[in-house]
Amino acid sequence: MSRSVTARIDLDAIVANMALLRRRAPDSRMLAVLKADAYGHGSVAVARALHAADGFGVAAQGEAERLREAGIRQPIVLFGGFDAAEDIARLAQLDVRPAIHHPSQIEMLEAQRDAPPIHVWLKLDSGMNRLGFPPDEFAAALARLRALPNVAPDIVAMSHFATSDEPDPSNTQRQLSVFRQATHGLDLPVSLANSTAVLDHPATHGDWIRPGGALYGLTTKPGRRAEQDGLRPAMRLAARLIAVRDKPAGAAIGYGGTFVCPEPMRVGVAAVGYADGYPRHAPSGTPVLVDGQRCRIIGRVSMDLITIDLAAAPGASVGDEVVLWGDGLAVEDVAAHAGTISYELCCRLTRRVEFA
Ligand SMILES: *Cc1c(COP(=O)(O)O)cnc(C)c1O
Repeated sequence: MSRSVTARIDLDAIVANMALLRRRAPDSRMLAVLKADAYGHGSVAVARALHAADGFGVAAQGEAERLREAGIRQPIVLFGGFDAAEDIARLAQLDVRPAIHHPSQIEMLEAQRDAPPIHVWLKLDSGMNRLGFPPDEFAAALARLRALPNVAPDIVAMSHFATSDEPDPSNTQRQLSVFRQATHGLDLPVSLANSTAVLDHPATHGDWIRPGGALYGLTTKPGRRAEQDGLRPAMRLAARLIAVRDKPAGAAIGYGGTFVCPEPMRVGVAAVGYADGYPRHAPSGTPVLVDGQRCRIIGRVSMDLITIDLAAAPGASVGDEVVLWGDGLAVEDVAAHAGTISYELCCRLTRRVEFA
């Protein structure tokens, strides 16, 4: 089809990545994180491919509803929890297990003691200072939940790391020790580890690991590519050249004329832009692959088009494929140029992109 931007998803890579993570944490159960439509990879297809996972994690109730509608049976943990009392019964009915991170949620549960029991995860704020009970309030929150007939007894203690992707482990170690102290003697299964903690901090593995990005062959480690951890990138995003133009020295390319050809240049125009989710902030110099050659974009990313310096692929012609990331071009490289992380690039692709 003309003007199609395609995201090809390699489900085998995702299965292989889960196997690698399991080998790294052999004694833990696997909560595969599928939030944001599986980081843009398609949550239902990924959940089906990961049928061997012990459970799935999502951020929003709608994401869990979609998985249940598709017949996904494993427990689903809802990281954002609930913020309205009328949602609780629905979550219990779907066996979606909300994170309890705020006193208002306990009050809502206390106000409906006769409701059918719901499984919950109780979140500790071990130092990220975003969601969760402070360490000195954690045991009391647990006691309130344990006193409720409408809360199932198999409560899991969870926390989340702020800097597990950074080379300096000290903050992660500090969060782990806060977690251990706050949960000491409470006899709870525990869950702490996101992708980089699974890979780099074995002491955090606990009963349930919660990797997301690593499943998709993505990393947030500064200056690193997921492949360096043995992971296989699962998304290949590609578009096509719809024009090839020879431009003289002095030609100003695209909106704002931000790139001026310093010499005569062959310029390719590819049919992809920020309306597909390609980052508008990607500056001149951001890499793309044309005919397998690493080229650079020049000028501004516009809504539907990007412009490419074809010096490294002089034989390129209309119809040739342009790889935006994947297959020889790490999404982490593109993200570094655009001032963001690979996660954001993958999960902000728009509906105009065709998935295959
Ligand atoms: C997103 C998320 C994860 C997964 O993080 P990754 O860095 O993608 O592995 C785990 N736990 C919680 C609570 C999350 O929100």
